[in-house]
Amino acid sequence: MQNTSHSLDHGASSWEEVLVELRKRVRTDQYATWFVHLRPVEITKNQVRLSVPNTFYRDWLERKYGEVIESAFRSVLDWEPTISFIVDESAPRTAAPQEGAGTAMLNPQYTFANFIVGQCNRLAHAASLAVAESPGTAYNPLFIHGGAGLGKTHLLQGICHALIAKKADTRVLFLSCEEFMNQFISAIQHGSLEAFRAEHRSPDIIAIDDVHFLARGESTQEEFFHTFNTLYNAQKQIVLTSDRAPEDIATLEERLISRFKWGLVSRMDLPDFETRVAIIQHKARLREVDLPEDVIHFVAAHVDSNIRELEGAITKIAGFASLANRTIDISLAREALEDMTPTSKPISIEEIQSLVTRRYNVKLSDLQSKKKSKSIAFPRQICMCLARRLTNHSLEEIGGYFGGRDHTTVMYADEKIRQMVAQDSTLRLALQEMETELRKKK
Ligand code: ADP
Ligand code: MG
Repeated sequence: MQNTSHSLDHGASSWEEVLVELRKRVRTDQYATWFVHLRPVEITKNQVRLSVPNTFYRDWLERKYGEVIESAFRSVLDWEPTISFIVDESAPRTAAPQEGAGTAMLNPQYTFANFIVGQCNRLAHAASLAVAESPGTAYNPLFIHGGAGLGKTHLLQGICHALIAKKADTRVLFLSCEEFMNQFISAIQHGSLEAFRAEHRSPDIIAIDDVHFLARGESTQEEFFHTFNTLYNAQKQIVLTSDRAPEDIATLEERLISRFKWGLVSRMDLPDFETRVAIIQHKARLREVDLPEDVIHFVAAHVDSNIRELEGAITKIAGFASLANRTIDISLAREALEDMTPTSKPISIEEIQSLVTRRYNVKLSDLQSKKKSKSIAFPRQICMCLARRLTNHSLEEIGGYFGGRDHTTVMYADEKIRQMVAQDSTLRLALQEMETELRKKK
């Protein structure tokens, strides 16, 4: 590594900048799982080499995050380096496999007491209470699904908190699906599979967040299956969340789909106006932000995508007020939320698909297929780009509308079209037309 330290001197701060960007582009748990272990070995305009603790990291990063890293370099530094990962077994691992699991991962705010119940989440909430009341017997497994920012993780952790509150020595294992996979592969490589199994097959409750990330045909899914069976047979509670219903997870094996439906499958929906008001009031109180009633109603009327966005709106308004040293009123709220207040009704991905298929004369089934010919890939990328700009769907969700593509594909499509638009005024015009058309109907 002697001969590379030179190129690092210049590159280290660039890498820091790219990391800041990456932090914004991937979810917190993904960042914690995959990116904190990266060490820069060589960072130059043409060549980026990063060391990783084992081959699993290398494969996973290459497959899932290569494009995100590339595009972060492009947007932050305007570099287009070749990215490669080097396995360095001696590299320090900030999180050993056994760490991070269990209660340390729980957010103390995500309790039932802090959860506002409305029509949108009543069933999922009631089921969660029942599970916390009689773990292993009420509903097993409990499977909660719904769009991003609707409170799935919060409810899941609410169950864990409640069980610990009831019985302090309850063995709770809470982890994201990616952590499960990561810990499993790492256990294989370190020859510590027995310890992994002892840990994952012994808790009183296992709560696994975002199981739509389980990849098909991989040993992780097999392991997950056995973990499930062992816990289920021992009448231990299993709670799972996902961004879609079990049967809609394209990568999931049939036998897991059917097991996920053995207990109760409960969907969470977008909150209605009254629930949004209640949530804003609750969050404002928690944060000790004084929001007048008309401002609360203004926010509830204008931010209707999901609950995370509602929180974002409160943060923005509070931040705006303290920066400008003004009291919070409607006009301040309007200014603060200028870029958040959308047209009256959200544009849906279906509408985008229908417009684009007509305009480019392709079939919807082609957009959802794996076909890569330009005549299909291009309109597909147009759709993804429009969906990024005009809807509040997450990258994962958008990918789901196109045959279950993953978030990096969507991110790449969006970026690609943006770059093309920068050089192609006809395309720019076409996109503007489509955007106007989509907004017009609202
Ligand atoms: P998801 O896992 O579905 O993407 P989260 O559980 O992370 O969503 O919720 C996003 C944010 O919204 C969290 O800060 C959570 O506390 C908050 N939140 C979601 N639903 C509710 C609710 N019903 N009452 C209060 N806060 C909520
Ligand atoms: Mg979540």
